[in-house]
Amino acid sequence: MSEILSSPLLAVVVPCYKEEAVLHETHIRLSLLFDRLITDGTIAPESYILYVNDGSTDRTWPIIRELHATTRYARGLNLAGNVGHQNALLAGLTTVKERCDIAISIDADLQDDINVIPDMIAAYREGNDIVYGVRRERKTDTLFKRTTALGFYRLMQLMGVKSVYNHADYRLMSRRALQHLCRFRERNLFLRGLVPLIGYRTANVYYNRDKRFAGESKYPLRKMLNFAVDGITSFSVKPVRMIFWMGCIFILIALGVTAWTLYSYCLHNTVPGWASLIISIWLVGGVVLVSLGIVGEYIGKIYIEVKDRPRYNEEELLM
Ligand code: UDP
Ligand code: MG
Repeated sequence: MSEILSSPLLAVVVPCYKEEAVLHETHIRLSLLFDRLITDGTIAPESYILYVNDGSTDRTWPIIRELHATTRYARGLNLAGNVGHQNALLAGLTTVKERCDIAISIDADLQDDINVIPDMIAAYREGNDIVYGVRRERKTDTLFKRTTALGFYRLMQLMGVKSVYNHADYRLMSRRALQHLCRFRERNLFLRGLVPLIGYRTANVYYNRDKRFAGESKYPLRKMLNFAVDGITSFSVKPVRMIFWMGCIFILIALGVTAWTLYSYCLHNTVPGWASLIISIWLVGGVVLVSLGIVGEYIGKIYIEVKDRPRYNEEELLM
């Protein structure tokens, strides 16, 4: 608790992929904010910004090097190849976890309002280990993006995945939350689904999301869909259970069909072979689906085991 009383050392982690168009401006804006926060004692003077270059092929890394050499807060991590936003972000968080008290992750384009960072830190000082940045409205997004986002969130809820609505990867995490996050060893990363599993007290701060001020989105529809599929399949084995229940429904239908077929058969208004065929189709279909569901249930268990997630997280231990 002692570090909460003094000014915490803040590390801002910024994943960058082909961001040469925005980096200078981003660094200026963040530096001005840092100047202010250090002067008023909100954060420690050693606080810094870690830019993670996610294997960009443009001038992103040279720019980060230049910022590191010529300005006060810039640090850099250069990944050997492009590993995607989530992995790049985790690389950054892993790097800072022993070198800070709190870390804030934010996109390089600063679409998320950095002016709520003081509010995030205030919430941290009130004893929250995780503070989610939540979009208040999506005025700048197209209707398409808004409805798909809401649909995706609903689907996640239906599948039993805990996540915060309208929260992307803009969040503050305390050092101990980071340390616990790093104990999740899975490969299919979907950080906004993992973070709620950490536990601890959390808070939300609300902001309006801006347009990208330069450069273009690195998340085309294809990547977004992949990301959505990842989000569900990394956290839920419910789709497999749905196969099982579908099988059960098929078997129920088969029973109805059997009764009806036998009835028609007895009244002699069926062609030869039809009754046996139609009964087999429904029954075999149902049995196959139920069997798949059962096999799937085991695969689901294996899936959960291989993820090897931590079973619990300690909040406090009195011995
Ligand atoms: N990004 C990354 N690796 C990738 C793709 C994107 O590190 O392979 C970073 C990118 O530089 C930015 C963040 O992820 O900091 C979010 O990307 P973007 O702003 O293009 O996504 P959008 O806001 O359009 O969803
Ligand atoms: Mg963006």
